[in-house]
Parts: sequence; C-alpha cells; structure tokens
Amino acid sequence: MKIAKQIDEVAATSAVAVVRAALERAKADKNNVVINLSESRALERAAKVDAGELKGRLAGVPFVAKDNFLGYGAPTTAASKLLKSFDAPLQATVVEKLESEGAICIGKVNLDAFAHGGSTENSAYGVTRNAVDPTRVAGGSSGGSAVAVARGIVPFALGTDTGGSIRQPASFNGVVGIKPTYGAVSRYGVVAMASGTDTIGVLAHDVEDTALLMDIMTGQDTKDMTTLPDFFAVQSTPTGKKLGLIKEFMAEGIDPIVRARILAAVEQYKSLGYEVEEVSLPMLKYALAIYYIVVPAEISSNLARYDGVRYGSRVGNEGTLRDVYELSRQAGFEPENKRRIIIGSYVLSSGFFDAYYQKAQKARTLLIREFNDVLSRYDALIGPVAPSPAFKIGNNTDDPLKMYLEDVMTVPASLAGLPAVSVPIDTNDEGLPIGIQIIGKRRDDAHILAIARELEELRHG
Ligand code: GLN
Repeated sequence: MKIAKQIDEVAATSAVAVVRAALERAKADKNNVVINLSESRALERAAKVDAGELKGRLAGVPFVAKDNFLGYGAPTTAASKLLKSFDAPLQATVVEKLESEGAICIGKVNLDAFAHGGSTENSAYGVTRNAVDPTRVAGGSSGGSAVAVARGIVPFALGTDTGGSIRQPASFNGVVGIKPTYGAVSRYGVVAMASGTDTIGVLAHDVEDTALLMDIMTGQDTKDMTTLPDFFAVQSTPTGKKLGLIKEFMAEGIDPIVRARILAAVEQYKSLGYEVEEVSLPMLKYALAIYYIVVPAEISSNLARYDGVRYGSRVGNEGTLRDVYELSRQAGFEPENKRRIIIGSYVLSSGFFDAYYQKAQKARTLLIREFNDVLSRYDALIGPVAPSPAFKIGNNTDDPLKMYLEDVMTVPASLAGLPAVSVPIDTNDEGLPIGIQIIGKRRDDAHILAIARELEELRHG
C-alpha cells in the first residue's frame, strides 16, 4: 500500500478512520506481526490531524516500529522477556521526526530478541510468519516490520539493520528495505545491539516512498554523536551508469533460482543503458567471520547494562547482588542473546583479545579498503540479498552456524558502513519473493535509490 493512497484516504474520509482501519488490520493479522498496539495514543493523534492541529507530509499516515525503538503509548520490549513491561521515558529521534510530519505510530512489531537473528524465531513472543507462505520465516530481525508492510497493515515500518536485518526480511517478503549509510540516521532512543554497525532504516511499499521517508529520517542529531552533518549536501559524482556484479555472491552456496533472477536483473539493467561487469572482492570470504567476532563483542558490552538493577526485570531479590544479576539475565535473555554474550566476552577477554577482536578489526579495515577501491570504479555494486528465498520455520534453529551463514551477503556492507537497499525483483516458482541488493558508496543513499527506481519502473511499467 502506497503512502499517497493513505493520504488520499485521509482526505476522503478522516485520519481517525484511516488509523482505525490500520488498527483493525493489525488485530486481524495471523502472521504474529504485532507485539503491542498503542491504540488510544494513535487515535488521539489521528483526531489532532482531523482537527488541523497536526500537519505535515505524512499527516494521518499510520506506521509501525520494530519493538526496539523507544516510543510512547506501548512498552518497548525488544522482543525480550527482560523488557516485557519497560515503558520508555522518551521517544527515538526518528519516531519524533516521523511524528512531526504527522505520521501516526499504531504499535510495535516483532523481531528476534534484541535484534539477534535473521528469522524472527528468537523472539520471546513467538515466530512471525512469512507474508507469502506461513510455513516459512519472515526473515529477520525486522520480520514484523517486513510482514506488516507486505500484508498491507501499514504503508511503512521502521527497522534496524546491524548485519542485514532490514534487507533480508524485505527480500523474503517482497518489499523495499534500506540500510542507510552508517551515521545517516540518528540512533538515539533505539536499543543498541552492536554500535559499530547499528543503523536505522525503513521498509516500504516501493522506492519512491522509501526515498521520501529517508528524506525525513536522515540528518544530524546532537543526541547521537555518530550522525553525519549535511547528509544530502555531499554526494558522489555518478561514474556513468556502471554497475559491478559481486562475483563472490554469485558463486557457491547460492540457490540456482536466486542466481538466475539476479542475472535476469543484470540484463534489465543492461537494457536501461548500464554497463555491468563482474567484480571480485577477495576479502568478502572473511566478512562473516569478522562480523561474528566484532558484533558479539559489542553486544556483550552493550547488553551488560541489563542486570536487573539498572535495566530489566529483576529476579532473585532475596539473594546476593550476584544472584540478582545471574537470575535476571537467566530469565530475561533468550538463548541466542546468551550465546552472543558468551562469544563476545570470550573474544574480548585478555589473552584472546589480540587473536580475535584485534585481528578481526584489522581484517575489517582491509575489507573497507577493498570496497572503497572497487566502488571508485562503479556507481554501485549489485548482487543477491540472501543465498535463498525464505526458508522453512525451524529449518536452521538446531544449528547456529547454519543460521549465521544466511547473513553472508548482508554483513559486508554493514561492516563497511555502506548504504544498501533490497528491492523486490521477482519470485521463485513457488511464488516466494526474491530481492536484489544494491550497495553504494558512503552517503550515496539517494543515488542507490535512484538506481533501484529505474529497475522498479521497468518492472511495473
Ligand atoms: N542476522 C544478523 C545477525 O543475526 C543481522 C542482525 C541485525 O542486523 N540486527 O546478527
């Protein structure tokens, strides 16, 4: 559902009617998308739009936020038991920005607890089902956001992407999802996962809507020191319609149908006047290993605050302080959260720090250099988003390594801080959506969206 269509409906009926209809769709949902709705606050805000007190480019347009965004009107759980009843004292900057344009957050949607995962199976609130085939995963960790848009509950949804969590569920459910340049969008008021690669982005019906939302969401924020000033003022010069097809993503382990669909998209780009060359980035073979050292290290440090005293529900009040820490964490974290805290603590421990964390950071620098070098010769790099379309629920849960391998094509852009968008291109023979990934230079978010738009226009006429 397009944003413009909702705006027309607000004009034809009222914001209250549009928001009420979205709330009804959310309640009728059978894919386990929603964790909590903020019904009364949403309707109050809609009434303000109707009274002319709330205006803007998104006046009366409903949306949902992944439940790791702090917001008013409903708890912020991060899909964990630990934060089950956490009422945020503030709203994320990006929620504020959207609301200042009149958009209305109707509720909070499912994710892998603390965004650790790629299937929304690690949630304390149950699995979100794929929008097309309910026996398959929604992808993740922004699974609820992707399905909310794909099922037409709302026209757009906020997500976070640390290693693929917007792009992969977007691809699995047939919607557009952008992971912006690191630092493009404020992270203030969003539950931190791995601060070195955490980004805030959005999932929407098409590229045009995504570009509008990015225009609203980006910008420097004094509350997030990593945000970039003058985001849209500094742009790279187009290289002249040249795309690099990432060779390593098209080689072993990729589903032949995904490969075929990407090659078909390459032909479409050629028909649009693009030159497309295969490019090799040899460092890509280390990307997954780098990611699964650096990210758990940062997770273990960011999650240390959830001790049942400063943050999180407390368990074991009658024991010692140590008991409180241990019992609260034991009860509040999901198994995948614990696994990552343990891995992270291990790679940061003295004696192993140089061998793992330091070495991974050095390798990451080499990967970044390789990306910069290759990107200097192309407008953008293209390739698949994931090795296969949405997999069956339960298929990868017995083996964490199998699950981590699903991230092999999304973590590289995260480690390099580059903007990357997932755009639907086709389906496989069973009707499962397949997306293409377009990776740009730093700050080239608008440019990759323009490249994505050309393909979308070609497909839809
Ligand atoms: N699937 C990846 C992981 O499990 C990415 C998660 C994310 O981007 N939040 O780490």
